[in-house]
Amino acid sequence: MKQLGKYDIDLQQVEGSLVSLEFDLDDCFFGGLQDAEIEHGKLKAWVQMSNLGERYEAAMTVKGSVQVPCDRCLELMTIPVEAEQKLVFKLGEAYEELSDELIVIDEESRTVHLDWYLYEMIALSLPMRRVHDEGECNPEMEQYLSGSPIEEETTDPRWEMLKQIKDNNN
Ligand SMILES: [Zn+2]
Repeated sequence: MKQLGKYDIDLQQVEGSLVSLEFDLDDCFFGGLQDAEIEHGKLKAWVQMSNLGERYEAAMTVKGSVQVPCDRCLELMTIPVEAEQKLVFKLGEAYEELSDELIVIDEESRTVHLDWYLYEMIALSLPMRRVHDEGECNPEMEQYLSGSPIEEETTDPRWEMLKQIKDNNN
């Protein structure tokens, strides 16, 4: 008997029947993934696996929220997530992602690891720019960011020269 992880599904179970799965995706879920940029969240996931001839289809839905660092102040901010995706799996000699939606599963293992697909679905649904609403950033960090280092950079040295010339002329 092979060992199945919490988010794994043996395609043999799906043959000729519809399998409905429900998962709670929390910090444990994110922490268990390697290379996951998102570390915190609280979501529900629903997966319906069905068998269509030689293909297996997974209809996946996630709903909830994740916490990611704000691009401006680096404090965690909550972003609501709601996403749906369909994936198609077929059996073959070795694992291969033929496209974003069509994946070959090695026929010896027949196992689909749903965790990474669920994670990718969540990650792709997030906006590129993640910042708090105006006034909601960490005030200390905001003060630091608007302090002298940035102002110095925005002062063009040519203006300084012009100012000196003007001063000398007076
Ligand atoms: Zn912020």
